[in-house]
Amino acid sequence: MHYLDANASEPLRPEAKAAMMAAFEVTGNPSSVHAAGRAARQLLEDARERIATRFGARDQDVVITSGGTEADALAVHALGFERRIIVCATEHDAVRAAAPDAALLPVDRRGIADLDRLRALLASGPPALVCLMLANNETGTIQPVAEAAKLCHAHGAFLHVDAVQAAGRIPVDLTALDCDSLALSAHKMGGPTGVGALLLSRGSPEIAPLIAGGGQERGRRGGTPAVAAIAGFAAVCGLEADQIRLAVLRDRLEATAAHHGAMVCGGGVPRLANTTSLALPGVRADAQVIALDLDGIAVSAGAACTSGKVQTSHVLTAMGLGVLAGQAIRVSLPWTVSGAAIETFEAAYARMAARLRAALVAPPLVRTAA
Ligand code: PLP
Repeated sequence: MHYLDANASEPLRPEAKAAMMAAFEVTGNPSSVHAAGRAARQLLEDARERIATRFGARDQDVVITSGGTEADALAVHALGFERRIIVCATEHDAVRAAAPDAALLPVDRRGIADLDRLRALLASGPPALVCLMLANNETGTIQPVAEAAKLCHAHGAFLHVDAVQAAGRIPVDLTALDCDSLALSAHKMGGPTGVGALLLSRGSPEIAPLIAGGGQERGRRGGTPAVAAIAGFAAVCGLEADQIRLAVLRDRLEATAAHHGAMVCGGGVPRLANTTSLALPGVRADAQVIALDLDGIAVSAGAACTSGKVQTSHVLTAMGLGVLAGQAIRVSLPWTVSGAAIETFEAAYARMAARLRAALVAPPLVRTAA
């Protein structure tokens, strides 16, 4: 099988595996005062320091979570307290579900947030929390986050940035982006699943926990930390796949898909080198995913979905793509991708497009009366 679904989860990097194997040798709870506890705490704090340094935060401003979903939910819960919430229309469900009543910030046909509309929304009411992701999980579109931060701060608003797909692919720095909080997830960077972080800026207020428990993470997130997973997370911070190589492979497969009738959704703007969203007019996304899977290629229809059901993409719908929003697959290249995988994809895509598009024009079966 060729795995081209990195935005769902990147393959584990050897650095993460080695760090986790070493950390598994340490027995102890970082909250215990004895030597074993202190050894576990040392691992935890070393990891925290590395995460902080790589992403432009202070150690004390890194809140370890169970992943990107929890980091987003914590940001909305804590920074959105008694504030209006404005959410970009193409945000991940982790943010949308945490703020179901939020005002929506529209995007243009390329997926870029409308900053004039943001200015108007900010000016029209009390202080807000704005959620704007750095890179979109379906199209790879990179948002003008630093500009949005200026607007937000001019209007007394907080800005939360979901950098889950951006980290490890483009530079991500809390201080340079000038946002108030930033969400990370280890498994999108080649680390283990089940761990991530919310990074807070220097000026952000004291935050109330979603999970209080034993007061860990400076009272901002209770629960015994998963030390080995956190060590694996820290080990991949600062590692980046060769973006130029990925862009060359991505452009090549896009050209082949276009030759077979596909349309690239959200092209022509800054975007992640590893990601493309390919719509095949008239052909349902789930049929494409299944056909490619049977041919040994793993891709997804829009975002990976926990229920296993494929839904029409809210991202592509927000971009005004209409019915094409249910006819697009996401191809996301992992750091391990080979040229051979792209060749196999191209051949499989050509077969899939020919077969499924032929089925569209096939004459209907004529039933004869029994
Ligand atoms: N934010 C974005 C943009 C994502 O793509 C994802 C996962 O797909 C998440 C948040 C959730 O991260 P996690 O899987 O670590 O909960």
